[in-house]
Amino acid sequence: MKIHEFQAKELLAAAGASVPRGLVVSSAADALSAFDKLGGPVVLKAQVHAGGRGKGRFKDSGADFGGVKFIKNREDVGKVADVMFKFPLVTKQTGADGQKVSKILVQEAADIAREIYIGMVLDRTIGMPILMACAEGGVEIEEVAAKTPEKILKVPVSPETGLLAFQARRLAFELGFTGEQVGQAEKIMMALSKVFLEKDCSLAEINPLVVSPKGEVIVLDAKITFDDNALFRHPDVEKLLDESEENPAELRAARAGLSFISLNGNIGCLVNGAGLAMSTMDIIKYHGGEPANFLDVGGGANKDQVTEALRILLGDPNVKAVLINIFGGIMKCDTIANAVVAAFKEVQPKVPFVVRLEGTNVGEGRRILQESGLNLATATDLTDAAKKVVAAAK
Ligand code: GDP
Ligand code: MG
Repeated sequence: MKIHEFQAKELLAAAGASVPRGLVVSSAADALSAFDKLGGPVVLKAQVHAGGRGKGRFKDSGADFGGVKFIKNREDVGKVADVMFKFPLVTKQTGADGQKVSKILVQEAADIAREIYIGMVLDRTIGMPILMACAEGGVEIEEVAAKTPEKILKVPVSPETGLLAFQARRLAFELGFTGEQVGQAEKIMMALSKVFLEKDCSLAEINPLVVSPKGEVIVLDAKITFDDNALFRHPDVEKLLDESEENPAELRAARAGLSFISLNGNIGCLVNGAGLAMSTMDIIKYHGGEPANFLDVGGGANKDQVTEALRILLGDPNVKAVLINIFGGIMKCDTIANAVVAAFKEVQPKVPFVVRLEGTNVGEGRRILQESGLNLATATDLTDAAKKVVAAAK
């Protein structure tokens, strides 16, 4: 689960890091009063669940700025906020359609002498969280990491003790902090580690961490992603979800307990088991088709879940054909067949269906489908199913 920059900063502040003053607004008028309250140059920062905002652009707006805009004059606030609220923001992480902006963080502007990167992730090779840091932070960090990986410093962090003060201090020196900056940087690193471990994050990063010409250390941008499997331990974190940022179909599927990911193709897939779902997608592609989604209804899905899954699939206007591929193990073929029949009656799909059933109660499942009178093509095996559904989608 992702959250907004302003929320990430609130969590870091609660853990002891000082963050710049800022106000979150939902209208251009409120952006103006935020400018007045903060009194002076500000940065308007579009709040979307995607990185690379600074280098992004507002689609079809003609504006020459992205999701992070420095503003000195009061009269520019309204103009910039209007563009941000009106046009979707396209960055290298949003896809071509971009992301609608419904909140802007108006933050007091900082003067920048130096931009540094610090971030925490789980390092699976050593089986521990690590704090990564780079003296050359900012919007080019991916390039630095790709071309000069030796510039990325890594410190393993014990999940039991968290980041230790000496580790933070040593890293601060390695990053070139001097004098009073060392203590400030150390405090921010400790806060980052505390949030990462206490909230079960999969990523917590500050990029850039800035040193001002006066020597202040400032958390200019922050990004946090949580491990969904641990969310049940953090009701406070779950409340931070901004549903308007999520893919509606994926949100709906998550609520029904289904593993669902939207893709760009036109063949809807309903499969039980993640491995079978992956191989189903592979074989569709092998035969020249493009899956519209990954959908694993799970080994023990019930009729309601399968019905909901079909509603989600058929709600996607790109879906031109559907493949139901079920291996009845724990899941029984007759359960699936009944759910398909019920979902058909409710949704009345206009697109062709191909069904491949195998496993427990397969005879009963096939009988239910045949006697339903529904217009379904059946397949004998996976290759047959893939060929039929690819042809149907064309
Ligand atoms: P991102 O592009 O989504 O990562 O957004 P950031 O908040 O990291 O901003 C991108 C870049 O804009 C930063 O690396 C800075 O160079 C610049 N920037 C952001 N805030 C300020 C600010 O307050 N003052 C100045 N001078 N530059 C800023
Ligand atoms: Mg950034």
